[in-house]
Amino acid sequence: MYYCENCNKVSEYDFCRDCGDGDLREVRGEDFCFLVECGTTFGEMLKSVFDKENIPCALLPRGTGVRTALALKLENYRVYVPYAFLERAKEILEIFL
Ligand SMILES: [Zn+2]
Repeated sequence: MYYCENCNKVSEYDFCRDCGDGDLREVRGEDFCFLVECGTTFGEMLKSVFDKENIPCALLPRGTGVRTALALKLENYRVYVPYAFLERAKEILEIFL
């Protein structure tokens, strides 16, 4: 598996379908991978579940761009977990979707 540092996404191929980078490197266990984008409430809940499961995760607010221009208060989180924990994190996520 390969990893795009621009998009924080894992790819089966050495190019990224999202940004077009054609020179991806091999993914490493500690690479943070995009898991899901969700509302802040769900994001906080997910983080507490991951904490209990000892899964490191990072929540990055995604409230820039159009949202800011429209002055909407609602922000989303983008949730990232290390590649080594990605499959487990997906399993947990499935429970809540
Ligand atoms: Zn990319």
